[in-house]
Amino acid sequence: MGRSLGSVFKRAHAVELRGIHIPHNKATAEQPTTQMPLPSKIVLPMRQHVGAPCVPQVKRRQQVEVGQLVGHSDAHMSADIFSPVSGIVREIRQIHYSDGRSDEAVVIEPDGEQLVHQSVAPPQVSDFAGLIEALSHSGIVGLGGGGFPAHVKMDTDLSGIDTWLVNGAECEPYLSTDYREMMEHPDTILEGIKTCLDLSGIKRSLICIEDNKPRAIELLRTMSADDPRIDVFELPARYPQGASRVILRNVMGLSVPRGGHLTDVGALLYNVTTMSEIGRYLRTGMPLIKRRLTVMGDAIARPQNLEVYIGTPISEILEYCGCAPGPRKVIIGGPMMGTTQVELDVPIVRQNCGLLAFGVNGPVVPPVSACIKCSRCIDNCPIRLSPIDIHKAYTARDVKALDRLMADLCVECGTCSYVCPSKQPLVQSTHLARALLRSEQRKAKGRR
Ligand code: SF4
Ligand code: SF4
Repeated sequence: MGRSLGSVFKRAHAVELRGIHIPHNKATAEQPTTQMPLPSKIVLPMRQHVGAPCVPQVKRRQQVEVGQLVGHSDAHMSADIFSPVSGIVREIRQIHYSDGRSDEAVVIEPDGEQLVHQSVAPPQVSDFAGLIEALSHSGIVGLGGGGFPAHVKMDTDLSGIDTWLVNGAECEPYLSTDYREMMEHPDTILEGIKTCLDLSGIKRSLICIEDNKPRAIELLRTMSADDPRIDVFELPARYPQGASRVILRNVMGLSVPRGGHLTDVGALLYNVTTMSEIGRYLRTGMPLIKRRLTVMGDAIARPQNLEVYIGTPISEILEYCGCAPGPRKVIIGGPMMGTTQVELDVPIVRQNCGLLAFGVNGPVVPPVSACIKCSRCIDNCPIRLSPIDIHKAYTARDVKALDRLMADLCVECGTCSYVCPSKQPLVQSTHLARALLRSEQRKAKGRR
């Protein structure tokens, strides 16, 4: 028997709310989205999602149109890639990222016509299996940064699931792309939710929004008032409210067992822009080809929320927004969880939601000093891990200790590094520790 909305709220109020207060710096939040013109080229890496990379479905010098399939994989865990423009495929080449990764990429020169491919048509969907099948041709992935294919996440046993959480927390400083989606497209968000509830049989949906976005809370509450299955859950603005384990605990008072998933405790969680894209795709049949970014930072002359074609080079976006020459630091994503980018000719991919550029007044990496055993990193970790012990265990490459310390549960929110007065490289260590644990677990599986 499912829980009632009332019981969910009561339990949520009974649990300890976790997270820290950090400056929001969301100066672009009330600026409506603007559209960037077509760039000089579109670069589509074949890996823009969790799972197997796609294989190019087009050849050099081929004409392509908007919405045409460009990359596909037969693997279950993957997500198709579509052309955002009409134009000519100029080359298929390797691109290299600052973190050492490289990907095969299809490079398209736009022709300015924006002719739409004949395959673009609203899908006919009558049941949940049909919805999953339709979304497998949509290119929609987790747009909060996760990149998990939306159709794969749905393809699960629904029998124990009673709540579809929609994550509109957007707790990262600077970023306001989800907020703009809620303010500008509440209709497609609600269409997506209603269709998902209708076809899945899941009884209720909670749209979870931090209380620093009162206009979005009011708007979605008003617009969903006619459907008793949907409600808005107001969360205190604390970081990292949007991390899946944190939102589950803060909203429903539940914890995911180690190695488990949210579905094990009766919940599905989708980012609010992902849900809106689902609604939009079902209405229009146009796969995911654009992405809203918050472009900010002290090196940016015209900070804004900008809709760009997926595959637009970062360098062209920075130029369009009036970035001062030679920014000292460029970050894709937010300041807490984003990645520093050195090479600026790489493109924006579909799970990116921010682009920050800082100049002389930007952040500096402070010198590291000895740990003073203040325990702030432990006290403020939303998962209740011990980042300093994980750091020591990783430095010693002590895999057994990392396992005992449950380093794999880290959500890489960066809170520990942010609060540490000694500026120990804690999130860097937990990131590497997770990778080490994963690799050791794979080796152990291979030996069995
Ligand atoms: S250990 Fe991981 S989850 Fe905990 S505060 Fe640090 S980065 Fe966040
Ligand atoms: S917050 Fe920094 S100084 Fe304090 S215990 Fe953790 S690592 Fe040490």
